Amino acid sequence: MQPGARGTLWWRALAWMALATVFTATHWPNLQLDLPMRGSDKVLHAVAFMMLALVWWPTGFIRSVPLFALAAASWSILDEATQALPFVHRHAGVEDAVANLCGIAIATLVIVALRQDPNAPGHAVRALAWRMVIDRPQAWMACAASTVLGAMVGGVILVTAQSLLRQPIKPMHSALIGATLGVAVALHATIVVMLRSMEARLRAQRCCPACGVPGVQGPACAGCGATVPSSAWMVPLARSLGGVPDRHWIRVGLVPVGIAGLMLVLIMAASIAISIRRIEALQPYLGPEVDPGMRLVLDAVALAVAASAGLWWSRRAAGRIRAKEAIECLACGHDLRGTVAESGIGRCSECAEPFRMPMDGSVRKEG
Ligand SMILES: [Zn+2]
Ligand SMILES: [Zn+2]
Repeated sequence: MQPGARGTLWWRALAWMALATVFTATHWPNLQLDLPMRGSDKVLHAVAFMMLALVWWPTGFIRSVPLFALAAASWSILDEATQALPFVHRHAGVEDAVANLCGIAIATLVIVALRQDPNAPGHAVRALAWRMVIDRPQAWMACAASTVLGAMVGGVILVTAQSLLRQPIKPMHSALIGATLGVAVALHATIVVMLRSMEARLRAQRCCPACGVPGVQGPACAGCGATVPSSAWMVPLARSLGGVPDRHWIRVGLVPVGIAGLMLVLIMAASIAISIRRIEALQPYLGPEVDPGMRLVLDAVALAVAASAGLWWSRRAAGRIRAKEAIECLACGHDLRGTVAESGIGRCSECAEPFRMPMDGSVRKEG
């Protein structure tokens, strides 16, 4: 069995379950949520559809991000529209649909921001590690445990924190936001730890990035015949941002943070400008009468846009620096043209930092 095949099946089962849960919740006849404040259900809508989209993306049914976003958006609108059916006894609202779309927008931005560059060093091993990890039931159990723990800890922390504020937010709101943040942090930490140890194992055992068979010797895998350069198992530069050394911190770190800040300022300016114009159709979303839940959802979208713009910029900058990997030493800047490489790996004559040599040598000609 190919690595990742079993894990993908589990993802799909989880995705269908999540879909059924959200659909049931949104279509339960006459569901009356005892929410402490007007607009809280907007946050629920956004969180539910964000989670749904994030669970569906790794199923691999749709691999193009724009197509995926379009499908998810259509589903969310259909979900809201069918609530208008008479026998459902629910209320279909434009603002609910907007909240759903906001949740999907945030999920799409997260997906774009976390997308891996296939040319980044160590990508093949990282991708294999992901597929091997999702195949293991222990990994799913660890994730379930950290989800529960993260939700509880995050919820408690935010409820406590808001009660100390001079103008406390409603506990229901803060519990929900705290739980969402807690789950994100706990899941991220768990997954990073599992991936790191799996990557280390795959490197040590020289596993084929295509089929996962350990102990590959020579240029091709004996198991599946795939061509495997030895640079596949090379450990990427230590202590680095985006796979490039720290001396590039301005291009890869500072500038992207500035871009994110600029995006936030622009969005704020635009929303102030539009709310001054007082366009009737936009009144539920801008201006003094916006319900607090909707405002929270819109703020979250603005933050997600800014953060993913910064991340995207950072990744692009790192990619451009790495494109010169075999031309200029990433660690010290020494000219590498003319350095001899053995089975895809060269070594800088100045600082001994290893670099990957493209198999066809095309990159070196450009320089
Ligand atoms: Zn193989
Ligand atoms: Zn060097």
